[in-house]
This record gives sequence, C-alpha cells and structure tokens, in this order.
Amino acid sequence: MQPSLPVVENVACTACGCVCDDLRLTVGGWRIVATERACPLAEPWLRAQHSAEGAAAEIEGRPVSADEALARSADLLRESCYPLVYGLSQSTTAGQQAAVALAERLGAIIDTTASVCHAPSVLAQQQVGQVTCTLGEVRNRAEVVVFWGSDPLLTHPRHWERYSVSASGRFVPRGRVDRFVVVADTTRTASADAADLFLPVEPDRHFEALHGLHALVRGALPEAGGCVGAAGTLLAELARRLQQCRCGVIFFGVGLARGAAGHVNVQALLRLVTDLNGNGRRWDAMRMRVQGNVVGADTVLAWQTGYPFAVNLARGYPRYNPNEFSVLGLLERQEVDACVLVGTETLDWLPQAALEHLRRIPTVILDPAERQTAFSPTVRFRVGTPGIDLSGTAYRMDGVPIPLRAVLPARYSSDAEILRQIERRL
Ligand code: SF4
Repeated sequence: MQPSLPVVENVACTACGCVCDDLRLTVGGWRIVATERACPLAEPWLRAQHSAEGAAAEIEGRPVSADEALARSADLLRESCYPLVYGLSQSTTAGQQAAVALAERLGAIIDTTASVCHAPSVLAQQQVGQVTCTLGEVRNRAEVVVFWGSDPLLTHPRHWERYSVSASGRFVPRGRVDRFVVVADTTRTASADAADLFLPVEPDRHFEALHGLHALVRGALPEAGGCVGAAGTLLAELARRLQQCRCGVIFFGVGLARGAAGHVNVQALLRLVTDLNGNGRRWDAMRMRVQGNVVGADTVLAWQTGYPFAVNLARGYPRYNPNEFSVLGLLERQEVDACVLVGTETLDWLPQAALEHLRRIPTVILDPAERQTAFSPTVRFRVGTPGIDLSGTAYRMDGVPIPLRAVLPARYSSDAEILRQIERRL
C-alpha cells in the first residue's frame, strides 16, 4: 500500500489581498500536488510552486555564489548617490522591515507597489479620513454590499464566498438571500452580472455619479433628473437602498482610483460613506487590494517611517511626497542611479520611460519567481515565497495580520536575510 501524502490544513494564500487562510494542500516531496478551496487564481499559482529550478544568485545573467552576489550588490549600492528601494508587496513583514532598514542605511528612497495602484486612495484617505471595519464585520453585519470600480469575481474570486456576499453571518444568517449586492462600474463585468443592481457609470464620470448619489442621500437634490455620470433613476434607487439598510459597506477598486482625478473620486466616495453613518445606520468603506501583502507594505512603512509609501530617507529623517518620491516619477525623470527591486510583479505596470531608465542603471532584484523582466538586472537573487516555503506574516486587505506557514521545504534564502546581509556589507 502506498503511504498517504502529507496534508496541510488551514494554509493562508497570498495570491491576492483576501489572504484566505482555510486552504488544504497535499504535499508530495517538493511540490504541492493537490489543493482544496483554492480559487482559479490560486490553484495554478500553488501548483507551479517549485516547478522551476533557478540559480539562487546571478550577476548579469551568470550563476554565481551568494557571497559574490552580495558583495557586488553592496558595492554598487555603496557607489550610488540616490538609490531607490521599490516593491515589497510579495514580502513578509520581516522582509519589509529589512527593506526599510536597508533604505535607512543607504539614505535611499523607499516606495511600494501602492504607487502604481491605490496611491490616489491613500491620498484621499489622508485628506478626508475613512470609516472602515474588518472583513469579519462585513461577513456578520453587512446587508447592502456595493463594489465600485471593482470586479471581485475576477480579481478576488473567494471574496464573495468568504466575506461579503454568500457568507452567512450573525445578522445575515441566510448569506446571499439576506444581502443586496450592487456593482457600479464603467463596463458590465462578471460581478455586475451576478449583482442585484448594476449601475453603469460613464467613463471618467465616477466623481459626478458619486456626487449625485451623495446629493440624493442628503436630500440636497430632490429629483434624480439633475444627475450626471450615471442614470438618475438608478442613482435614486441606489440612494434609497443605502438609506434604508442598517449596515452596509462600499468596496472600491483601482477602477475608481485610476486617472488624473482618482483621488478626487475616492474622496467623493469616502465622504458619502461618512455621511451615511448615523440615524441608526452603520456604513464602511474598504479598498480592494490586489497584491498579496501590499497592506503589509503600507503598514510597515507607516509604523517605521510615519508614512505609507514614497518616503525619502536621504536627509536622515523621513520625508513624504508622492508626487516627487514615487517610483513612476523618479524613474521617468531619471533621478535615481541604482534600484533594489524587492519583487517584480508590478514591473509590467511601469511606463516605458521608467523601464528604459531601469535598463540604464544598476539593479538588484530579489524575486521569489523566475520572471522575465524588460531589462537585464545587474544582480538577481531568487528568494523564498511567503506562505509556500517561508513563514511570516501577511496583512489581509482589511489590515488584519495573518500568520503564514511554510508548507514546502525551503530552497532559497528569504528576502529579509538577503537584504540584511547586503546592509551588513555596506
Ligand atoms: S481569493 Fe485570493 S487569497 Fe483567496 S484563494 Fe483566491 S487568490 Fe488566494
């Protein structure tokens, strides 16, 4: 009789910001051979783990010893006058702390992947505040759930089932039956098809639609006829739903935050949610975070430097200015002269001019995956994958820290270890 393969229960997945911690994985040697409760996004990612064997360290594409790669990284960072440390959303808390320590030692700028997705939402939150909660509260209390500029069935496939729509909770025991689901977006998505109400928003008119909705909720606009950005009748129907429920939540995605007026759109949404509270109603707002631990990156930077992203440590104290110190501007303006990339999953989102600059300057990449990049890095380290062969902590999209366990034997060092060793050699 064949011995049965080990099964690991309650594994946390970091493939998206939901960080579902109820997966059941069967492990055969170095690989994950079967999964339970993994969504279509997680399943191929989990099964691909440890499928590619790459060198632990490379210099200009040549496999080298870790020692040699560490020495070269330290040399090129020592020679740099204005280095950038960027990424962090695929790291554990320990990796993120080590990246901040390295940036501090170098007097570098440190920025996270928030800069290429929810930066306008962070700015809006800092300007007008945000009423928010945990996903546990959503699961137990929310009667009306709105997704604005987000297609969760595609980007966060288990969000509905675990937290927001089908999950049964204390005050919504029948799950989906007890909830009214709204999707507001510029295109009809899979989530819109599954919702009770779809509010089509005209492209680039999120602000107008939210403003009209807010006016209807406050009674400042007695008739829906004056609304722009979306159909007045639908806005009036939505306003009525928002006012009548006892507890609701609006999740908003990068679809709302994108574009030159992204922060203004998010401000309009956050103000609406704040005003909905009172008269026996409780309303919350929450960002749909995409990358696995981008909330952890915001959190670690905020607790260590006082600011969540785009922080300049060159003067020995932190300075925050997203317009000046975000990865996009720094690379496009060709200001930085070396770059440490901790994770490369968002490099495809950078504009061509930024990638061109990365081709010109020395780069050190630390990445759990064997990803192709648009430029050849000077030094590349292959590092462990959080929650697969590396334990630690990741933050869920609502800011709740979730412990990660290693389910496979480690083949590579952690990014925290590599970053600390570079720092020691400076
Ligand atoms: S919803 Fe996200 S965290 Fe949950 S299993 Fe799917 S990819 Fe993983």
